[in-house]
Amino acid sequence: MLKVENLEVYYGSIHAIHGVNFEVKQGEIVTLIGANGAGKTTILQTITGMIKSKAGEITFLEKNLKTIEPHRILQLGLAHVPEGRRIFSGLTVMENLQMGAYIRNDGKAAIDADYERVFTTFPRLKERKSQLAGTLSGGEQQMLAISRAIMAKPKMMLLDEPSMGLSPILVQEIFKIVKDVNASGVTVLLVEQNANMALSIADRAYVLETGHIVKEGSAQELKNDSAIQKAYLGS
Ligand code: ATP
Repeated sequence: MLKVENLEVYYGSIHAIHGVNFEVKQGEIVTLIGANGAGKTTILQTITGMIKSKAGEITFLEKNLKTIEPHRILQLGLAHVPEGRRIFSGLTVMENLQMGAYIRNDGKAAIDADYERVFTTFPRLKERKSQLAGTLSGGEQQMLAISRAIMAKPKMMLLDEPSMGLSPILVQEIFKIVKDVNASGVTVLLVEQNANMALSIADRAYVLETGHIVKEGSAQELKNDSAIQKAYLGS
């Protein structure tokens, strides 16, 4: 569904991404794990066109994403939940969700059913429908960011460190939601520092170190890999 081939990204003279290759097949949850500064966010931002690559191909549903303007990528069915959430802080919760649904043309009934689904999943957002999004707690903002992406009815979701800054209980809750979103038919690429949690819900994983993919395999294989356990799983 999504294929990244021989990707090279620079920030000026800094070579951030070195010949990265990976793919995500329809229906999968794939995780890209790595330490701070490994290049995870850079890869997601390059996929969505916010950063230009120096070389390489990015294909989503057979289309070359490098030729598509960033604001059209959501219309193709690829939604990005960026790091730090980036919700519209001056708008209410409901207005943020409406912004998510803005690109849809599948009718009011389908959209209303998804508002219902989001509010059933996140009762806390329902209670806070008319609250300004900027005044939500960090965890609530993360719920809103994911919900806004759900409202766009994407075929695939790119999630950048959804666990960041959340309490362990909320992390579990958010990862369960990601699993549920996937079960509802949305393919997922999940970028995470929390390798333990990411590997617990993913089908397959890639390990990124200083801009290189150094290992790939099924989530189970990587969980059992002693080098990965030592470096990323705290054992
Ligand atoms: P984290 O988990 O800390 O968010 P990450 O794996 O997402 O890390 P990136 O943010 O993609 O890592 O950064 C990859 C590398 O590129 C780092 O060395 C970082 O310092 C560098 N980098 C990122 N953004 C810029 C920028 N705007 N200008 C220069 N260097 C940058």
